[in-house]
Amino acid sequence: MRLAEALTELFLPAACAACREAPASGRGLCAACAAGLPDRGPVLAVPRERQAPPTVVAGAYDGVLAEVLNEYKERGRRELAPALSGLLEEAFAAVAEQVPGAVLVPIPATRAARRERGFDHVAALCRPIGRVRRCLRARPRPDSVGLSPEQRRRQARRSLVAVPSRAAALAATGRPAVLVDDIVTTGATLAAAAAALRSAGIAVPAAVAVAAGQ
Ligand SMILES: [Zn+2]
Repeated sequence: MRLAEALTELFLPAACAACREAPASGRGLCAACAAGLPDRGPVLAVPRERQAPPTVVAGAYDGVLAEVLNEYKERGRRELAPALSGLLEEAFAAVAEQVPGAVLVPIPATRAARRERGFDHVAALCRPIGRVRRCLRARPRPDSVGLSPEQRRRQARRSLVAVPSRAAALAATGRPAVLVDDIVTTGATLAAAAAALRSAGIAVPAAVAVAAGQ
């Protein structure tokens, strides 16, 4: 990169994460894109996977929401976390009304993903909401490209385990767990996480996610 370009990048206000044109105002987005985030309140998504709990999401994985989620997750634009965290918080509030005393259990990143991104992106979104119990651990996950749905399911089941001491502590409180993920598609990951917690004696009545994909 030439010096002039490098300096421009350093000193100009960051561009909006969604349109990459207008300068970002607060929270990494320009005003127009911020207005493009879902604002009609969370909606219910019922994952195809039958063991996955019903999931409340902020909106479809589409448009501005998809852009923002990708920039946050893949490019580490952590200034976008407050906007995404706010959407998750609304989804959780809707669930918490029905499930008193619920705690948030984030789907953990694998160690490899955490190392690559420098942070655990779902857990980071949960932190400002509070009531977080990190009682799941991700095992290394081989690439799932080309796997059949059944193979994917089996792989997902093996990939998440409860952290025994933390899961036992949560089970002892009798509080239900609400799983948290960034995107829900088939629900295979949520089903695997729910199974791991349920076998530790924890009820998993619902999940929340930022977006519902295809
Ligand atoms: Zn924009």
